[in-house]
Amino acid sequence: MKLHFELTGKDSGTQARTGLVSTARGGFLTPAFMPVGTQGTVKTFTPAELEDIGAEIILGNAYHLYIRPGIDIIRRAGGLHRFMAWKRPMLTDSGGYQVFSLARLRKVTSEGAVFNSHFDGRELHFTPELVVEIQEALGSDIAMVFDECPPYTENKGEVRKSLDITVAWARRSVACHSLENQALFGIVQGGFFPDLRRESLERTAELGFDGLALGGFGIGEPEGRMYEVLSDIAGRMPEDKPRYLMGIGTPLDILESVGLGIDMFDCVNPTRYGRNGSAFTRRGRMVIRNGNYAEDFRPLDESCGCYACRNFSRSYLRHLFNCNEILGPRLLSLHNVYFFLELMKEIRRAIGEGRFREFKKDFETGYDRDSR
Ligand SMILES: [Zn+2]
Repeated sequence: MKLHFELTGKDSGTQARTGLVSTARGGFLTPAFMPVGTQGTVKTFTPAELEDIGAEIILGNAYHLYIRPGIDIIRRAGGLHRFMAWKRPMLTDSGGYQVFSLARLRKVTSEGAVFNSHFDGRELHFTPELVVEIQEALGSDIAMVFDECPPYTENKGEVRKSLDITVAWARRSVACHSLENQALFGIVQGGFFPDLRRESLERTAELGFDGLALGGFGIGEPEGRMYEVLSDIAGRMPEDKPRYLMGIGTPLDILESVGLGIDMFDCVNPTRYGRNGSAFTRRGRMVIRNGNYAEDFRPLDESCGCYACRNFSRSYLRHLFNCNEILGPRLLSLHNVYFFLELMKEIRRAIGEGRFREFKKDFETGYDRDSR
C-alpha cells in the first residue's frame, strides 16, 4: 500500500474535516501534527517517548540527512526508520525550503539548484531526480517533491517563473519515483497571488500525487497575508487527498487552518521553543526563566497531563534552565510536543462532535495572542 486517505467527518460550520491516512507502516488520524526530526531525531526525544505521548507520524529532512551522515550510510543501515529506531509513519521533506533558506544558493536553472552546503560550504547540485533518490534511500512513507521556495516577494513575474519551475520539477519527480510503498506529495507554490496559487494547484493536482502540500508560507510575509491566500486555496484542494500546510505554526495558526480544511501540519515551534525555555499553554506561551516563576510551585499548565506537568513545578523547571541543566530543555520539549498532539486530539474530537467552531472560539478567547 502506498497511501490511502479516508475522509471520516466534516464540520458543518467550517471547512474542517477529520480523516485517516493509512501508509505501509500504519495510519495516522487527521488533522495531524508531525513533530519535526530534521536530522533523524526529534530533538531531545527517544522514539519511545514520542510513541508514549501519541505521535503517530514524524518528519525527517532530505537535505540535512544527505549532508550528514549521507544516504549511503542510511541505506546500509537499512533505511532511516531502522537507523533511528522509529517504527511508525514518517514523512520526509525534500529540502527545497532548506536549499533556499539555509544554504548559500548559487543558481536555479530548469535543471535544478546549485548551492553551497550550510555545513561545510561544499558545492551541491540538487535535481528533482536526486531528491527523489535521496528520499527513496531514506525509505520514508511519504516523500515530498523538490520545489523552488523563493523568499517573500510581491513581484508577480518572479513568482510566476518560479511556479513554472516547480511544476516542471514536480512532473520529473513523478516520472522518476519508483519506490513501492512510498507515497509522493506535490507542493503548491504561487506566493501570495490567489490566481497563481490556483494555477499551481491545478497544474500540480493533475500530476496524480497521493497528497498535496502548500509551501511558501511563513517565510517572512506581513501578518495576515497567508490567510488572504489560504482562505481561497485550501478549500479548492482535492477533497479526497490529504492537504498539508508546510512549516506552520502556532496553536492559533493550526486552529485557523484546520477551519479552512487543512489536514496535516509540521513545525519546529514546540521543540525549538522548548529548548529555549518557552512553554505553550492554554493561556499562551510562557517564558520559564521569568523571575515571576521563582517560587511558583504550580505545573506549567494546570490542564496538561504530560509527564513534566504531572511531576514538576514552574519553579523547578526555571531552576533547571537557570543552571543550564539538560533536563530543562527535555522537559519543556516534552510538554510542548504533548501540548500540540493533545490540541490535535481535541480538534479531532470537536470536529467529530460538530462543535469545532465553539472549540476554536473558546481556545482563542483563553489564549494570549501577544505571547505567541
Ligand atoms: Zn505539560
